[in-house]
This record gives sequence, structure tokens and C-alpha cells, in this order.
Amino acid sequence: MNRIEKECAVCGKPFVPKTVDSIYCSKICGNAAYRKKKVQRKKEEEQQAVVDSITSDRLYISVPEAIALFGVAKSTLYRLIRQRKIPAINLGTRLVRIDRATIEEMFPIRQVPTMKEKPIMKLYSLEPEDCYTIGEIAKKFGISDSSVYKHIRKFSIPTRQIGKYVYAPKSEIDNVYNSK
Ligand SMILES: [Zn+2]
Repeated sequence: MNRIEKECAVCGKPFVPKTVDSIYCSKICGNAAYRKKKVQRKKEEEQQAVVDSITSDRLYISVPEAIALFGVAKSTLYRLIRQRKIPAINLGTRLVRIDRATIEEMFPIRQVPTMKEKPIMKLYSLEPEDCYTIGEIAKKFGISDSSVYKHIRKFSIPTRQIGKYVYAPKSEIDNVYNSK
């Protein structure tokens, strides 16, 4: 039986897949893809470690921290700093500190690529057990309460106030911040 040719996911060469799941033309391309994935995962872990080390009360963050938090390109960051769109202070060579609140408004929190496709959740529950409070969201994602409110408005996330707490559905919040 003749299988339909596919394009190798690495080199782009057409090949006849051995199984329906084959996406690489050869062991060499398969290994290359594996190594690339491993490097990416390591980078993700390193960035997550940087993100985890940033406390929510920090007003100014470094360029590597901003890259880890917001997944924004270094060149973009420096351009925005040069254009004075992001307030920055220069403490010396490689010691630029940038205003966190401004950049939080400009960029959503970094999207962590997930291995599996998540089903699109349209339904949400506003029961307190299915919700985070604003304080919990701020703590969990290392951002300020005011940023949480901004993102809630920006992404039209439903909220519910019970007593002095404002609740937002975990599913919607996790979706926005694409957390683990
Ligand atoms: Zn190939």
C-alpha cells in the first residue's frame, strides 16, 4: 500500500511516513527535533525560575526579568525604552531597570507553550470554590492587584463580589495567564 508523502517537520523534505504519526523524514531529523524541544524546555524552565524569583512588590524589573515575565523580545524592550514608552532607570552597564506597571499594561503575561492542546473552555462557574479572589490572582501570578483588575477588564472576565472580596473564575483567569 502506498502512503501519501508528507513534508518533514524539520527539513521540509517530502518523505513517505512509516506510520501515520511519523512527522520526520529520518532519525537525524527526529533527533534534531528532540534536541530542539529539550533546549526549548530548558529555556522555559530557566525563564520560569526567573519569573518565580520576582516578588509582586517589585516596582522595577531588569530586562531579563521583563523578557521572562512578558515573553517580549529584547530588541522590542530596548526600542520602547529608547522611545521613552517604558520608564526606565539606568544603574549602569547591563543594569537597566524598567517600570513594571507600564510594561504590565502593554503586554499580557508570558504565554507558556503547552504540550497538549487545551480544550477551549467557554463555560465558567462563579461559585467561590471555582474562583480566585483578586488577591489570590495577584499572588499566584506575581502581579499587582491593579494589574489584575486591568486584565480582567481587558479580557472581559466575569467577576462576582461577595462581601469585600471580588471573585473571578479560575478557568478564565488560568486561560488568560496560561498557567500550569
Ligand atoms: Zn527531515
